[in-house]
Amino acid sequence: MRDIHHFISGDAHKGSSGRFHEIFNPNTGDVQARVQLATAEEVGNAVEAAKAAFPKWATINPQRRARVMFEFKRLVEANMDELAEMLSSEHGKVIADSKGDVQRGLEVIEFACGIPHLQKGEYTEGAGPGIDVYSMRQPLGVVSGITPFNFPAMIPMWMFGVAIACGNTFVMKPSERDPSVPLRLAELFMEAGAPAGVLNVVHGDKVAVDTILTHPDIKAVSFVGSSDIAQYVYATGTAHGKRVQAMGGAKNHGIIMPDADMDQAVKDLVGAAFGSAGERCMALPVAVPVGEKTANELRERLVTEIEKLKVGISTDKDAHYGPVVTAEHRDRIANYIQMGVDEGSELVVDGRDFSLQGYEKGFFIGPTLLDHVKPNMKSYQEEIFGPVLQLVRADSFEEAVALPTNHQYGNGVAIFTRNGHAAREFAQRVQVGMVGINVPIPVPVAYHTFGGWKRSAFGDVNQHGPEGVRFFTKVKTITQRFPEGATDDSAFVIPTMA
Ligand code: NAD
Repeated sequence: MRDIHHFISGDAHKGSSGRFHEIFNPNTGDVQARVQLATAEEVGNAVEAAKAAFPKWATINPQRRARVMFEFKRLVEANMDELAEMLSSEHGKVIADSKGDVQRGLEVIEFACGIPHLQKGEYTEGAGPGIDVYSMRQPLGVVSGITPFNFPAMIPMWMFGVAIACGNTFVMKPSERDPSVPLRLAELFMEAGAPAGVLNVVHGDKVAVDTILTHPDIKAVSFVGSSDIAQYVYATGTAHGKRVQAMGGAKNHGIIMPDADMDQAVKDLVGAAFGSAGERCMALPVAVPVGEKTANELRERLVTEIEKLKVGISTDKDAHYGPVVTAEHRDRIANYIQMGVDEGSELVVDGRDFSLQGYEKGFFIGPTLLDHVKPNMKSYQEEIFGPVLQLVRADSFEEAVALPTNHQYGNGVAIFTRNGHAAREFAQRVQVGMVGINVPIPVPVAYHTFGGWKRSAFGDVNQHGPEGVRFFTKVKTITQRFPEGATDDSAFVIPTMA
């Protein structure tokens, strides 16, 4: 059995807890490896390594830090095939989608290559007589990232790419369900020239997470995962004096207006609902057609498109999507489908009995379509995170805007329309953090910023882009003067610019 180790101060560490998590091959259902679950002491060792590396890394000039990022990008590109295969074999997404996962992360690394410019402070000459004021953005120290299973390349790079470019050192705790790619990225990062201890990886569960959240030497925690855990991470981390950003779950709506380009909308909805087996926080699992005619046409065309979908193993080049991550997750999705039926929605396409010949033990589930879903249903209110599309029919634009606005989650949303006025009105009013206008998956590019509203994110600062730089740095403001001889200012009165 292959053991997946920790990576501390540039070396592999076997781990001593005697506790492991099994890593499956979702195509076959077989256990292919096991990952060590760290003790509190092992997490402490990683923090020590990061702490020792910090003073030097923080003061290296930013161009040198950027050069490590450039070289890392080159190495990841050179190893793209290996990384994508590794990712697909543990997660289950198809190879092309795994390459997209790596590529989206690399785009944040490209952004981080600009750190000499991004980290520049501000300067005011002559703020008072002979007085200049300037600010600098300094790194925080040791910071940590805790990541989910569904983007094991992109989300680690969102976090460590920006944090380390800013001069911090990093302790990463990847998902215990698919930990090999984050570990391999850390090895490549060292190969790119990062000194030992700048990026460390500890695998683990609640023990490791709680140690990170309470450790006095960790200054900030970036988290992405489900909402209950995100809220817990935010509350515990901030109670221990840390800066915390904690992204949570989602239930994104796609509004289809009567004037939408229906060919495009149907194609986009099917891709965004079923791609990666729906295991994306920016998937579109809810379609909201406006008006009876739009709803009936949409449903008919969705059924036709769903019938054409090919579910296959993650290495099948023709497959639209592969298995979900574990048998437990597949069963959870199936339970939500049953819940939807029990609550009174109509099961139009049922994917629960899907079985792939030769891979009967794989964690597959077919595409599923539910119609006449109502806002008061639990299966609508909660995140399913699987290949299930729910149709919630709306009578008017107002009703359609209200649905995502009133939902507990507010990650992403999309509207399909040719009407610029309606689109603009929608974008202004909807209470959701990321909006697509005729764009089904509006994940912002790396130099903008990623983050949802309501229970989709806890904390005030988003991931990557300028907000990422703000999250991983603190501002110091210097007011200086070099007077020639004594000044006649009174030292007892608060200085003003009057
Ligand atoms: P998860 O919450 O189960 O796990 C996320 C991380 O938290 C993992 O590292 C895990 O080890 C840790 N964890 C799990 N249980 C814990 C506990 N009880 N105490 C402390 N730590 C714990 O999430 P997941 O299933 O890996 O990922 C899917 C979820 O992530 C979905 O809800 C999805 O919407 C969300 N997600 C959100 C975004 C976003 O940016 N908003 C992006 C990707 C995924």
